[in-house]
Amino acid sequence: MKDATIRENLKVVEDTIAFACKESGRGGQEVTLIAVSKTKPVEMLQEAYAYGCRDFGENKVQELLDKYEQMPKDIRWHMIGHLQRNKVKYIVDKVYLIHSVDSLRLAEEINKEAVKKDVCVNILVEVNVANEETKFGIACEEVKQLVRDIAKLSNIRVKGLMTIAPFVENAEENRPIFSKLRKISVDIMKENIDNIDMEILSMGMTGDYAVAVAEGATCVRVGTGIFGLRQYMP
Ligand SMILES: *Cc1c(COP(=O)(O)O)cnc(C)c1O
Repeated sequence: MKDATIRENLKVVEDTIAFACKESGRGGQEVTLIAVSKTKPVEMLQEAYAYGCRDFGENKVQELLDKYEQMPKDIRWHMIGHLQRNKVKYIVDKVYLIHSVDSLRLAEEINKEAVKKDVCVNILVEVNVANEETKFGIACEEVKQLVRDIAKLSNIRVKGLMTIAPFVENAEENRPIFSKLRKISVDIMKENIDNIDMEILSMGMTGDYAVAVAEGATCVRVGTGIFGLRQYMP
């Protein structure tokens, strides 16, 4: 992919976010664009960085660490993929936000390592709103209790919720998923639990981020729309 393409793609995504904000009466600065750079070479991340991206999303611990070493230190790294407990120790002091916490056991492991390194880790609770069998994330009915349990851990701050919506042809089909996640977050906010913020709603990917923004996303995670299609090694 040529230099100009990432720049042009970023412009399209940023304009689309701004438009969706305007249409729905929101201020554009409320939405953080996370450039999902998984599988992409560091050179492409550097280009995106040069055009102003400071939030990058990765879904594998080793890849995140490799890129962390090679990229500037003012980047906010987002762990957006399923996280195994035995790998938590490598990233707790390097990530800005972990989007994919879906069990108390994982939260406890993050807390344990955060205490060791004397850091406080910001996390989101991943919700499987669409109830897809193939997806990680906790069921809607269990979110409140999980949040209450995590709230008791000393070195974790719950900042909000995340969901991965199904792959659909028409993004509108995901609108009820996004509005449901927002509704759950509003319900939790009303409980005023100590240590719990519900300021972040991480939802929307290349195919549906405009709809997610219209439904209140504060973070969108866009990969293909910025870097082009991913090629996975066989
Ligand atoms: C890969 C990935 C994305 C980005 O997907 P695109 O469709 O390429 O924008 C967003 N969120 C998560 C959790 C992902 O794994």
